[in-house]
This record gives sequence, C-alpha cells and structure tokens, in this order.
Amino acid sequence: MTPKIARFLAERRLATPCLVVDVDRVEENFRTLQAALPLAHIYYAVKANPAPQVLERLARLGSKFDAASIEEIEASLAAGAAPEAISFGNTVKKASAIARAHELGVPIYAFDSAEELAKLARYAPGRRVYCRLMVDNVGALWPLSRKFGTTVENARALMLQAAELGLEPYGLSFHVGSQQTDPAAYEAGIARVAMVFTDLREQGINVRMVNLGGGFPIRYREAVPGIDTFALAIGRAMTRHFGNALPEMVIEPGRFIVGDAGVLCAEVVLVSRRGKDDPVRWVYLDVGRFGGLAETEGEAIRYQICTPHDGKADGPVAIAGPTCDGADILYERSNYRLPLALASGDRVELLATGAYVSTYASQGFNGFAPLQEYYL
Ligand SMILES: *Cc1c(COP(=O)(O)O)cnc(C)c1O
Repeated sequence: MTPKIARFLAERRLATPCLVVDVDRVEENFRTLQAALPLAHIYYAVKANPAPQVLERLARLGSKFDAASIEEIEASLAAGAAPEAISFGNTVKKASAIARAHELGVPIYAFDSAEELAKLARYAPGRRVYCRLMVDNVGALWPLSRKFGTTVENARALMLQAAELGLEPYGLSFHVGSQQTDPAAYEAGIARVAMVFTDLREQGINVRMVNLGGGFPIRYREAVPGIDTFALAIGRAMTRHFGNALPEMVIEPGRFIVGDAGVLCAEVVLVSRRGKDDPVRWVYLDVGRFGGLAETEGEAIRYQICTPHDGKADGPVAIAGPTCDGADILYERSNYRLPLALASGDRVELLATGAYVSTYASQGFNGFAPLQEYYL
C-alpha cells in the first residue's frame, strides 16, 4: 500500500467495498517500464483499468493505448490521447467498430483470421494491420492464448493476403498470457515471430513491427522476477533474432502499470465454522467474485490480504464473497491463513487490486452495488 493510500484510508472512514488507486504509483510504474525497455513503445492495455484518471495521467506521460473496443478507443481519446496513439488490438471486432475507429483516425488494427482481415480491408481500407501468433501460455497465472492467435503458416499467408487486399502488413504480435512469471515465454514468442518476419521480408513484405503484448507480472502473495529480468531476456532474444536490424518494438502492459497502485477495502461480514471442531473457518467478505474479484476464478490470482490483527496467532481459512451464488468463493485450496481474532465488522485490505477489478464488478447481483472507486 502506498503512503498516500494509507493516509487517505486513515483520514476517511470509507464505506466498503471500495477501490482506492494511487495515480502517482501508476506514473511510477510507467516510468519504471520505460526505463527498463527504452526502445519499446508502450501501449497501455486499457482493459486493465479504464478510469479516466489513469488514462489521463498516462496520456500526459506520452503513453499510447491498446484498445479492445470502440468504447475503449473513445475513452482514450477523451483522456487526451491522439488517434495515432491508439491501436485497436482486439482480433475480434464488429464491422461497425472497425468503421468507426477508422473514421476516428485509429491507424493500426490486430487480426488473426481471414474473415477479420476481409472486414479490415472493407471498413478500414489502407490501414496498418498486424497478425497475432499463437504462443504457449505456460508460466502465466491467467492464460489467454487458446482463444487468440494463429499458426506460423497461417500468419505468413494472411500477411501476404493483407498486402493483396490493400492493407499495410505492418507487424506481428503475440501475448504470453497475463501475470506471466517466466521470462523465457517472451524469448519463445520472439523466436516464433522472427521466423515469420524473416520469411515475409524474403517475399518482399516490409514487416516493421514486433508487438510483444503484455503479461508482465506483479507481486501478489508470491514474489515474481523483477522487470529488469524480463527486459534483459527480451533484449537478448531481440538481438539474437534480429541483430542490428531491430524492428520497431511494442509492448502492451496492463497489470504491471496499474496493479500495485490499487487497494481494495472490504469488511468481514461473517466468520463461521462448518462443524464445531472444524479447523477451517469460513470468512465471508462484503466483496467477492461478483464484486470485481473475477481473477480469483480457479484461485489464479491470489491477493495478499491485510487485517487489523496481523502478527497475532492465525489459522486456516476459506474466503468467500457475500452473494448467494455457490461460485462466489475466492479461496478454498490456496492455503490462506488469517488471524484467529478476525471477526465480523473488521475491515480488511486486499493489496495490488488496481488491475482487472473495477470493471469486473457486476451490476448489482443480489442487490450489491458495483464497487466505489477513488483515484488519488
Ligand atoms: C489483456 C491484454 C494485454 C494486457 O495484459 P497484461 O497481462 O495486463 O499486461 C495486452 N495485450 C492484449 C492483446 C491483451 O488482451
């Protein structure tokens, strides 16, 4: 938790659940990433946290934006981004969204299929396009890849087709999955992209950009390698495969920029045991899977939880949300322990909740209001 958030929480007794984000920390993270990968153009993945305060700060810092929908494009523009600084990075786009983005001046579009390419040729004629390759998501706590990307062979053919359709076959991309803890995943992605890159150049297609996606991890309960470790692995792989003729490099971080800038404040609603002597207590919070903690699905993202009794004797717990849905369980198998003194009415904080929380909150399931948000 940043000192600014700690002060804010101490001064104000906020109704819970609520998310508090330190926008200065967002800026620090942006600068850290820029320093680690000075040759890369940073396109912030808007979906991680699209709050205007976050987008405005990043736009002022010269960040570019990776948008997945026309709404995210409009939010980026409203925050002060130039249309040229926006990439329409979703490989699944409605024709109407493509047409509108083209009209707004968005210069570059992702694709991974022939049908999407045909839509782009029709609704965004002449624009730059880049093809997303399928890569392994091993090492990622929140994998994405089975849904997106295409094979090396397909990518090659589609990029040639893009040129025939009058589009500009500009680059190749991959995404190693979110919260990727293994730098080798980027090296493997770069190797795969390089194969297609070289082939296409030999066929007269002037590919110019490599998009390494996002995925850079942050610390939750467990430590992760630092950003410099990733930067080093990426730098080495780029040099190994491209030598001195380095292509334009793009990254699309989301979690790394906003994740540790946010704290989710919640209240303990109930602590109970199934049987009198059951060692495991069930702790019900006023926020759960439907209040924004969607990434606890499969217990993938394991948030660190602070309580007022930290340091005192603890015991095993299962942790759940307040709704009547059986799926609204956060952690049952991840060996969480919380203080034995914990009781209903206690306030707790879930750390590093700045990414992929605010927009995942439901519209009042069971009557619970969406998460309140504060940006400092
Ligand atoms: C979600 C997403 C990102 C951001 O991923 P993080 O793991 O948050 O860095 C980047 N690019 C694409 C295409 C995405 O879908």
